[in-house]
Amino acid sequence: MVSAPLGNLKGLKFCVVGSGYFGAVVSERIANDLGESVLVLEKREHIGGNSFSEIDSATGIEVHKYGSHIFHTNNKEVWDYINRFSGFNSYRHRVWTTFKGKVYSMPINLATINNYYGLNLKPSEAREFLRKEIERDAIPNPANLEQKAVSLIGRPLYEAFIKGYSEKQWETELSKLPPSIITRLPVRFDFNDRYFDDPYEGMPLDGYFKIFERMLASDKIRVVKGIDFFQVRSQLPADCLIIYTGPIDRFFDYKHGHLGWRTLDFERETVPVADYQGTSVMNYAERAVPYTRIHEFRHYHPERKHSETGSVIFREFSRFAKRGEEPYYPINTDQDKQMFERYREEMKSQSNVIFGGRLATYKYLDMHQVIGAALLAYERDIRPRLTGKPWNVVR
Ligand code: FAD
Ligand code: UDP
Repeated sequence: MVSAPLGNLKGLKFCVVGSGYFGAVVSERIANDLGESVLVLEKREHIGGNSFSEIDSATGIEVHKYGSHIFHTNNKEVWDYINRFSGFNSYRHRVWTTFKGKVYSMPINLATINNYYGLNLKPSEAREFLRKEIERDAIPNPANLEQKAVSLIGRPLYEAFIKGYSEKQWETELSKLPPSIITRLPVRFDFNDRYFDDPYEGMPLDGYFKIFERMLASDKIRVVKGIDFFQVRSQLPADCLIIYTGPIDRFFDYKHGHLGWRTLDFERETVPVADYQGTSVMNYAERAVPYTRIHEFRHYHPERKHSETGSVIFREFSRFAKRGEEPYYPINTDQDKQMFERYREEMKSQSNVIFGGRLATYKYLDMHQVIGAALLAYERDIRPRLTGKPWNVVR
């Protein structure tokens, strides 16, 4: 038993496990809307979960510690909410991909199609051209990543831009992965090369780390960093509501097994140039290049003055997460899905625990989706416990 520096917890009504977006939003609402005290336990030495960023001391460049994070949403409520904690610049994400020494626009759009095939097709011609490419494989009900990708863009583009990259990213047969992984990317028949279609997009003017500091600023919120919930759980009052945002299999002591996750390694380098690659993210489509992409963080904030003599880049490598390593992407094979269903059943027996966020729901969720889910969980599951009013008549 660890005697953690938690002090007297008598009367504590809310304990939030994890200070990523789910935990931070719920804590902010409990403190600032309900006016109640909340204890936040965070295993890491910093707040913000995987969306955390910090300033590189040598160059002054804001670095996203867990890989590039671009804020985008079509949800006005989420956009208005997040703007209470930071303004946003007008950054629009565009990605390039290198294949056999040539650079192409990603996601696949008219420029990618024309450059790859060496053609100059108009939108309707490109549609017709790809329709014929797709027909060659004739996949009526695409049921996995490979089939879905081929049915959207045809085999040649799939083999150039999706196959090698996805094999590096997932190291799983692409026929065993869900189609939902690839439908995250649009396919366009015009020259629109934006990565996201959402109406609201940008990078926080003061940095991601400031958003979390501001969300958790209330004196009703106590954040204890560097502490694992499972080491101190027994010290919490029995009637304390727990909002758990950690891995779901860990919560139930892996009784149904370990869910599959991919983790990432980042090779960080400060390169002695003002601009290394001319853009924020360059993908590498070929299997032979060991990394999936290179991030260059200075490009996220053209409005900031940065060092002219150095730029921070991350080379990103993907691999299976071993036990205890950082989970990044849920793999979601059929076996994982069945296991998760068993954990989902177990959740129902935990009346004093609310599960939320990407780790507890075993879902790949963007920041805006997690914020939306946290706002909903607060209104539907947390607030009514104190006010007694069902959520749909509260507002
Ligand atoms: P997390 O941010 O993971 O926070 C969970 C927290 O709980 C962590 O801080 C963890 O330390 C803590 N915790 C876990 N277990 C315990 C425990 N036992 N005790 C105490 N603390 C615990 N989203 C976008 O919108 N745009 C992007 O461009 C984007 N890029 C991404 C790139 C990568 C490489 C990855 C992996 C994700 C990206 N995302 C992006 C998704 C984004 O990271 C998530 O939506 C967000 O981090 C989810 O927040 P969360 O609160 O659910 O989880
Ligand atoms: N993908 C690909 N080639 C690319 C970019 C993406 O094959 O150049 C595939 C890959 O399987 C990836 C998925 O599309 O996991 C979703 O891409 P996204 O950029 O949304 O992934 P993330 O940025 O979240 O890693």
